[in-house]
Amino acid sequence: MNHRPPRIESKLPDVGTTIFTVMSQMAHDAGAINLSQGYPDYDGPPRLIERLQHYAGHGYNQYAPLAGVPVLRQAVAAKVARFYDHACDADAQVTITPGATEAIYCAVTAVVRPGDEVIMFDPVYDCYDPAVRLAGGVPVHLTLAAPDYRIDWDAVGRAITPRTRMIMVNAPHNPSGSVFTPDDIAALRELAVRHDLVVVSDEVYEHLVYDGRRHESVLRDAVLARRSYAVFSFGKTFHVTGWKTGYCVAPADLMTEFRRVHQFVAFVTNTPVQHALADFMTSDPQHLDELPAFYQRKRDRFAAALTRSRFGFTPAAGTFFQLADYSAISDLDDMAFVTWLTREVGVAAIPMSVFYKAPPGDRTVRFCFCKEDETLERAAAKLAAL
Ligand code: PMP
Ligand code: GLN
Repeated sequence: MNHRPPRIESKLPDVGTTIFTVMSQMAHDAGAINLSQGYPDYDGPPRLIERLQHYAGHGYNQYAPLAGVPVLRQAVAAKVARFYDHACDADAQVTITPGATEAIYCAVTAVVRPGDEVIMFDPVYDCYDPAVRLAGGVPVHLTLAAPDYRIDWDAVGRAITPRTRMIMVNAPHNPSGSVFTPDDIAALRELAVRHDLVVVSDEVYEHLVYDGRRHESVLRDAVLARRSYAVFSFGKTFHVTGWKTGYCVAPADLMTEFRRVHQFVAFVTNTPVQHALADFMTSDPQHLDELPAFYQRKRDRFAAALTRSRFGFTPAAGTFFQLADYSAISDLDDMAFVTWLTREVGVAAIPMSVFYKAPPGDRTVRFCFCKEDETLERAAAKLAAL
């Protein structure tokens, strides 16, 4: 008998534990204020929580339909009609998923074949590149230049080859907070049509845009909507990241392929959460309208505190993240800096280099400001003292 375990060759040999888990654990161990991983330290709306208790307590605890609970898909269709003037069929074009992460994985897996090239932009959210590689695709990393982190569409045009199949965009952008303008949408449309690309548009921060800006969704553009998987997250929008629920909107033919994958990755998304979200979206539509101001106040509070520090920054245009340059404070590389900041100063942040294939070596970290005002004030006092 051979008792040796099977030898497997890693498909992702260069990948460690995600930085969000690493930094939250480090913050926990050090008793530091955790401005690293993006999640609120406040709860979702009480009425939403009550609805979950209601459904879990009243027998809504078995498998949901494959595409998601119909009332929630209808609420999503109404929402994208209201915000993006996009008419979609809740049955054929909306799928509820266990988070945006699963939706991104399914969209990539449904489309990308071995050797296909997929364009993405560094600093890039950490799940895109592994999803492409697991599908046998080739990630093509372009770089967004500091300080404004905008896409150089001419460079995108030059990077496209006959093997390019997909482009993955994220606006509002994690980690930089940059947002799309109508010109970005026009440029994306032009290239996607000319080269017959499928678009994955990660819009999980759709409602977190500031200073009167408007979120430019691909769904607003009929041509782009026809070739896009638009991905969203209830976790961000309703302050319930731990519920891990999101959704994808795509044209029926793209969605058919998406569901072929989704049914064997997750099969379905949990039932009582979907019913609770549907009720809340119907009873409290104003929640979405209030979000930009709610987060803009937090951004401004945190920015005011950073102004009193030696960190350099430009206030984020969107998301609940704020980049900050620490070159006036330390020469440490960013991983060493956040380790020091967490353990010695008591504030955890995310090092920017983790979002790059080839880190530019600048001295920048990401702080998350979706925190109680009191948490932000305590963190600010520590940061201002450096
Ligand atoms: N995309 C981006 C840009 C994110 O920041 C996140 C998570 N915060 C996700 C996708 C994943 O969202 P979810 O938790 O719904 O899977
Ligand atoms: N998206 C969140 C962030 O950027 C965290 C999600 C995660 O931990 N995977 O901080």
